[in-house]
Amino acid sequence: MFAQSVMEDLHNCLKCAACQAVCPTYKSTRMERHAPRGRIQMVKKYLEGDLTVSRGLQEALMSCILCESCTQACPSGVRLDRVFENMRMELHEALGAKLPKKALFAALSNPVLLRLGARIGRAGQRAFIAPLNIKWKLGEIPLNRLPSFNQRSFRQRMGEVVPAAGKRRGRVLYFTGCATDLINEDVGDAVVKVLTRLGLEVVIPHDQVCCSVPIFLSGARREAIPNIEKNLSILDRDDVDAIVVDCATCGGGLKKSIPHLTEDLGLDSEKARRVAAKVRDVSEIIAERLEDVEWKTRKSRPRVIVTYHDPCHLVRSMGVSRQPRMLLEALEGVRLVEMVGADQCCGGAGSFQFEHVEISASVTGRKKENIRSTGAAVAATGCPGCRLTLAGNLCRENDPLVVHTIQLLAERVH
Ligand code: SF4
Ligand code: SF4
Repeated sequence: MFAQSVMEDLHNCLKCAACQAVCPTYKSTRMERHAPRGRIQMVKKYLEGDLTVSRGLQEALMSCILCESCTQACPSGVRLDRVFENMRMELHEALGAKLPKKALFAALSNPVLLRLGARIGRAGQRAFIAPLNIKWKLGEIPLNRLPSFNQRSFRQRMGEVVPAAGKRRGRVLYFTGCATDLINEDVGDAVVKVLTRLGLEVVIPHDQVCCSVPIFLSGARREAIPNIEKNLSILDRDDVDAIVVDCATCGGGLKKSIPHLTEDLGLDSEKARRVAAKVRDVSEIIAERLEDVEWKTRKSRPRVIVTYHDPCHLVRSMGVSRQPRMLLEALEGVRLVEMVGADQCCGGAGSFQFEHVEISASVTGRKKENIRSTGAAVAATGCPGCRLTLAGNLCRENDPLVVHTIQLLAERVH
């Protein structure tokens, strides 16, 4: 099952530990099994038959955030991300998934179930969590700091085609992801507003499904195949100039992981590569057209300090870091102040923060302090997962408001 081409990478590891210096989980525990070098050596031993599948091996591999910092830092070109993804599949095939994960995979694979889950979640939030002031936490996040579910699915609320405002200058497909569809409709509205004001017609296919990244990064690669094939059949079209994402996880999945995964599993990787070539983060699309933006101006706009957190999948999987900063710097009244370690993981990584609470809290703790040190009133980012983690953990009275970058733009665009 382990892809042969990836297996060969293991022989290139020099055990130099350059990866160790950048690893957030190693920084938190100082244990070799939580370091990329240690994890690589465990995988090597497993493939050589000196180590068998066990809960210990599973813990070492699943306590990796898959932030890709090690892959970027490795001087020997070891593709640690692909090694870990392949090994997670081995573990999943041998040990299976726990019931909550199985339920999550089932929901993410079935849009009807997912929307039903969101409706039940919303009813629970409105009936119990807010009125009863329940103090429980999910991981380190108080339940009352989790975002509310949308009243209606964003995609169902929008038409399948939203025309350009004024003269049409292009046509893009908007892959909304589950977060915007079910939770962050404020981001969806902002994306559509800014893109259409730039003269872009926005196509929003209603039958798109979860990108399946949370499924296959957990090791359940085979379970992810139906979603991947369905999305590729919807996204592989010639009549759009780009496929726009507002979620770094969906973007990283479509742009980088899915082409690799289809190749590893012997599926149609050509189609995956055609789609990947068109995937763009919304900040890239807007940064290219900044001179076309018509800004609202105000006589006196209060100065505000904004800092920017790079989502792992945006900065490393998609290679996007300059464009969101260009957009923030273009905003009247905004002073962008860089935090230390802006490109280091926020510690969330989807369900990681609920399954590895201590490690996650330690990684998030460093990020919180770095954000606070900037004195920013607003922390912008480009991923709904990072937004959830940061907004959920930055709970002091003077902590910054956490938003998606596109929301700051949408406020100031005519
Ligand atoms: S940086 Fe690369 S070569 Fe060095 S220990 Fe890590 S994986 Fe091995
Ligand atoms: S992907 Fe990130 S958390 Fe995982 S081993 Fe590499 S640096 Fe550490």
